[in-house]
Amino acid sequence: MTDLTHLSIADALAKLRAKSISAVELTQAYLSRIEQLEPKISAYITVTAERALKDAEAADQARASGDERPLLGVPMAIKDVLSTTGVETTCGSKILRGYVPVYSATAVQRLEAAGMIMLGKANMDEFAMGSSTENSAFQITHNPWDTDRVPGGSSGGSAAAVAARMAAGALGTDTGGSVRAPAAFCGVVGLKPSYGRVSRYGLVAFGSSLDCIGPMARTVEDVASILQVMAGYDPLDSTSMNLDVPDYHAALEGGVKELRIGVPREYFIDGVQPELQAAVQAAIQQFKSLGAEIVEITLPHTDYSLPVYYIIAPAEASANLARYDGIRFGPKIDKNDMWETYKATRGQGFGPEVKRRIMLGTYALSAGYYDAYYGKAQQVRTLIKQDFENAFETVDVIAAPVTPRTAFKIGENVNDPLQMYLEDVFTLPASLAGVPSLSLPCGRDQNGLPIGLQLIGRAFSEDVILRAAHTYEQSTEWHTALPAL
Ligand code: GLN
Repeated sequence: MTDLTHLSIADALAKLRAKSISAVELTQAYLSRIEQLEPKISAYITVTAERALKDAEAADQARASGDERPLLGVPMAIKDVLSTTGVETTCGSKILRGYVPVYSATAVQRLEAAGMIMLGKANMDEFAMGSSTENSAFQITHNPWDTDRVPGGSSGGSAAAVAARMAAGALGTDTGGSVRAPAAFCGVVGLKPSYGRVSRYGLVAFGSSLDCIGPMARTVEDVASILQVMAGYDPLDSTSMNLDVPDYHAALEGGVKELRIGVPREYFIDGVQPELQAAVQAAIQQFKSLGAEIVEITLPHTDYSLPVYYIIAPAEASANLARYDGIRFGPKIDKNDMWETYKATRGQGFGPEVKRRIMLGTYALSAGYYDAYYGKAQQVRTLIKQDFENAFETVDVIAAPVTPRTAFKIGENVNDPLQMYLEDVFTLPASLAGVPSLSLPCGRDQNGLPIGLQLIGRAFSEDVILRAAHTYEQSTEWHTALPAL
């Protein structure tokens, strides 16, 4: 093989361990690929080439002296919402331009401790608000399968980087679908872990009760390897769960016999792109032929997920974003008095979608409306969570589409926020319920664009959905296809 960027993380690690390639060679291959394709894709806000090569040299030296850390020498992209010591972290926003954190997010720090090489910070919708990465204040990321189309969002830079072989793997974050949807649009694997499985420390907050950090890669096995390193209790995040982390690698084997797979009727509805629906149905049939039992189920409160999410997420965002006032965080635009200064700073620092969310959230939380909106949304959220609990009494995994359609055209939704919100209908329920959910390639539409299959599991059963996903993946060819570019 000439181009090392074709290697999966597992294959790259095998070659690194056998010393048939070096971390410097592998990192150099990714950096060359970035140099070649970044003008076309714009996946990165910051490329940390020098640092990556230095880290790669150190990785090779460590390996020479017997170091066998699990990700030693693996080059990855990190979504720019994750704090990285000494490397600018913008969250895709002008308001954080120039902000250089003095600490790294626990997830990043654990990956680095395991030997990961950071290639750079991936583009994203501003503060992770969006479904297309068009809300980035800096650039539009292009879908590697068709550069006139969006990569999905908000972790579009991460997904595009992995699909275009500009990174071996990536971290994204998922508040309402932002790992799964871009993974689906770009034809890669993405996992939103259970809420509490991975520490949120150092993840710049959007919707704190929803935010999850998730791995993206070209195979299920690679996603399992990344999750393995970052999962587990962290005293710095009081919502991280003190639970044993299973051996996700060992969990991949065993097949899907005995597994009961639920097909929720609320996810197979009119308005979903027909080829997408057919591909997901075919994947479900594939599970059946692999020995799984297919059970039709109902998640009756599915319809409420969208309105509930678009109250709770903006409400939490409006509180979380109060700190960007030019005094605590962000550059200050000085005016004559405090209010003018405040308005100018926030008015120019935030893009339109972020302002919209702050206004929606502030309204939903205001005295007199709190009970009618936020309080009610929390009650309905409990019903959505109970839907999943009920379903998981009879099934082990739920199979569904990730998105209602494949990657749409750049610009198509930008003037219609409601249409943009509708793209999230199938990913929001698992986010509100806090359960793990994975997206993996299961087909292609008539334009050759990737289609994603969503597998949702019980809380903290990442091992089960990884096994189901791996079994399916190994029985099909979808994950081997790469965009032409
Ligand atoms: N598209 C959703 C939103 O705009 C989800 C974003 C996310 O998961 N970060 O809020």
